[in-house]
This record gives sequence, structure tokens and C-alpha cells, in this order.
Amino acid sequence: MALVFSPEPNPEVPVQGSDDTFPVNRIYCVGQNYGDHVKEMGGDPKKNPPVFFSKPANAIVTNNQAVRYPSATKELHHEVELVVALGGGGMDIGIAAALACVFGYAVGIDFTRRDLQAEAKKKGKPWDTAKGFDQSAPISAIKQVVADCHPVSGRIALSVNREMRQDADLSDMIWSVAEIISELSRYYELKAGDLIFTGTPAGVASVIAGDHIQAQIESVGEIDFKLIAG
Ligand code: MN
Repeated sequence: MALVFSPEPNPEVPVQGSDDTFPVNRIYCVGQNYGDHVKEMGGDPKKNPPVFFSKPANAIVTNNQAVRYPSATKELHHEVELVVALGGGGMDIGIAAALACVFGYAVGIDFTRRDLQAEAKKKGKPWDTAKGFDQSAPISAIKQVVADCHPVSGRIALSVNREMRQDADLSDMIWSVAEIISELSRYYELKAGDLIFTGTPAGVASVIAGDHIQAQIESVGEIDFKLIAG
């Protein structure tokens, strides 16, 4: 018995201050988790439970590598997000037990083909081509949780060519990290290696090839990369 071809390697994310890497299992994402962004997309922040979608694990881009502008879109949007990296999992995890599953946190960009997403929303179609494309999930190194200290507040910001586009605070999240893990585990058996992108604040906008994207989250980390022609 042999593999019929050599498999693609699983993506790994560096861990800050260490030679270790975090092997990625799945990527889950939360939509519409900051009030201002929900309003800018035309929704009512408090009305609905969290919206979940996913990206393939190999959408990850690490080490500030340049990202190619994707095919089939004329409106690529940046969304800076706090990313939760799970070191444990399970199903039906209670809110009180949820944070014990967290290995660490990172800064991620949920790149979105906004034109395709708008079309999908209008027609009631899935979001996969709008969200789950190649290189759609650049991520910083992961900061491991120390002494049970989790980021519940602090600045989350993104600039393009040094011009501020998104500038908010983690305390503006509608659903907390513990609530997201608990709710997500009703639908999926969460595993060590899963990443959860927890939603973006207001200020999402288009980027083009040549743009320099920088983002940071206080006490978590930063990401700094270029978008290049596809
Ligand atoms: Mn997002």
C-alpha cells in the first residue's frame, strides 16, 4: 500500500518566542462580530446568533509572505481579526470551560472577495468563493497564553500604505471568545490545531496589488506584508 502521490504538507504557524510551530487543522470564522461593522454591512448587531463559515486550512499565509491578488474579483477587502488558536477541543463545550481550550492568539486577515460575497448574499448562495480562496488567511505568529491571561480588550488596527483603515478595541466584540468557542462546539467537534477568526471591526475596504498592509492587536502581535499582482 502506498500513497498515490505525495500529500501537500499541513500548514504550520510559528509560535512567538520559540522554534515551535502550531499545526493547523481547520479554520473557522465568525461573521459580523463588531457592532460598527454589522451596521456598515446593513445589519442589526444584537439581533442574531453568530454567523459561522470556514476556510480551508491551506488558505493560511505565514511569516509576512507576500499575498497574490486573487483571481475572479475586482473588490478584495481586508478584515483584521483576532485569531484564536485551539490547543484542545470537544463538543458542547460550556462557556466556563471554553478558554481552557485556547493555546494562544494571533492577528489574522480574513481576505474577502466582497463583490462575490454581495452577489451570494443577494441570491442566497454559499460564501465559499467569496471567503475560502487560496491565500485568503494571512496570519501572524501565535502568542501562547501565559498564566491564563486572555486578551479581552486592547487596540485592534489595520493600515494600508500607512493610512489607518480599521481602528477599534477588542472589547467591542459582540460575542466573546468563550461564547464563540462554546457556540461553535455545538456544530463541530473542535480539535487542537483549529483556528477561529473572530470577526472584524468597521473600516473594511478595497486593496490593490502593490498595497502594503500592516495590522496589530495590542498584547497579541502584528502582521506586515505586501499584496502583489496575481
Ligand atoms: Mn471576517
